[in-house]
Amino acid sequence: MSVLDTLISGGDVLLPDGLHRVDLGLAGGKVAGVYPPGTAPEAARVIDAGGKTVLPGIVDIHFHVRAPAYPERGTVQTETRAAAAGGVTTLFEMPISKPCCSSPEELARRRDHFSENAVIDFALYAAPGDLTEASRDRMVDLGCIAWKIFTTPAPPGRADEFDGLAFPDEADQFRALRLLAGTDLPVVVHAESAQLLAHFGDAAKSLDPSDAATHNASRPAICESVAVAKLLTMNMDAQAKLHIAHVTSARTVEVLRAFAGTSDFSAETCPQYLFATEEDVGRAGIYAKVNPPIRYQPDQDALWDAIADGVINFVTTDHAPFAKAEKQAAEGNFIAAPPGVPGIEFMVPAMLDAVARGRVSLKQAHDLICANGAKRYGLYPKKGALLPGSSADVTVVDLNGETTFSPATMHSHAREVAHLFYGRKLRGKVCETIVAGRTVFHEGEITGPAGAGRYITPRFTS
Ligand SMILES: [Zn+2]
Repeated sequence: MSVLDTLISGGDVLLPDGLHRVDLGLAGGKVAGVYPPGTAPEAARVIDAGGKTVLPGIVDIHFHVRAPAYPERGTVQTETRAAAAGGVTTLFEMPISKPCCSSPEELARRRDHFSENAVIDFALYAAPGDLTEASRDRMVDLGCIAWKIFTTPAPPGRADEFDGLAFPDEADQFRALRLLAGTDLPVVVHAESAQLLAHFGDAAKSLDPSDAATHNASRPAICESVAVAKLLTMNMDAQAKLHIAHVTSARTVEVLRAFAGTSDFSAETCPQYLFATEEDVGRAGIYAKVNPPIRYQPDQDALWDAIADGVINFVTTDHAPFAKAEKQAAEGNFIAAPPGVPGIEFMVPAMLDAVARGRVSLKQAHDLICANGAKRYGLYPKKGALLPGSSADVTVVDLNGETTFSPATMHSHAREVAHLFYGRKLRGKVCETIVAGRTVFHEGEITGPAGAGRYITPRFTS
């Protein structure tokens, strides 16, 4: 009988202190050991990773599929298959659903739905709902990975999706931070000032809705930076484990820098802000509309600078699928179009491309899309590392391979609305994705069954 289930041999393995030419043994869904080449015990299956790079499985801490609502946009099965194809082994699903995941009942229902359908591991955010300790504590018992709130009101017609999630009133934001500080779980905030959005939204009504610049004019960067400054000020008293979602602008980077050390906070940005500007949105049309908007070259440069000096520590997808008909219905109208792009298959090759271009090191890129998230959410080194005892989650990549982003090779149900990055040629390719020792994606094919993904809570023990 073999000692190992799987041996990944001949590759360069990313360990916490850097790349090493070692063999990686997996057994019982965990990393069994790291061995000098040729010294590992016998394995039932050997994966030849010669010429490849072996990474701890990618963890995306910001993902939307909204299931079981809106299956026409994508289901847990389609979007976790897409995640597997994108090299992602664990995703953290945001609480927007219909109804909103802001009650213990809804959290339990979503947990069961995802458990039956997910191809990769998943964790669930909760929204704080009625802001009572009783509801909060029941959701903690159910294993929510963290919390999410918006500082903006629910978009028109979507009150039920944002019930208990949207807190445009500052007093409610402060109450939420205070209440959730007691749980020691991160509180992720979509930060744009409701009052400034209302002001600029009115002003933009006289502008051409088909122009990408109108979207930016209706939600300029100051909406984001003011909301972030207020949250960081509140958090000096509230003392929550605060995390600012999808930072887009140079101004907000300045705010984050100014508040450094004043409370326990962190911040993320996304590939759409690092690899695109409003010019790309202009070309792709409303398919590329996201909130907050994709900005300008100086903003993109500021985000890379913020990554370089550690002001921003996370890159997340904010993957948000829509049906083609929904986007098409708003063709030529940036104000009316639904916001969101499906980016789960773009992030890993895009970050590898940034490595190839010398923008970040491989270790930095991996920290941004995996290890830092695992650490911030208390899962490291069970997730985010390849150490004996870690979960056997592995993303095998080819740093010299090429990925051309195209609907022809994508797995997301929303591949027909992924215009923002169509045609992008990226240096770097996902070859194989392994979750808990099982190969779920290999050279273009999904091999993992629905329902194999595990529900990951803060109490996860690999
Ligand atoms: Zn989001």
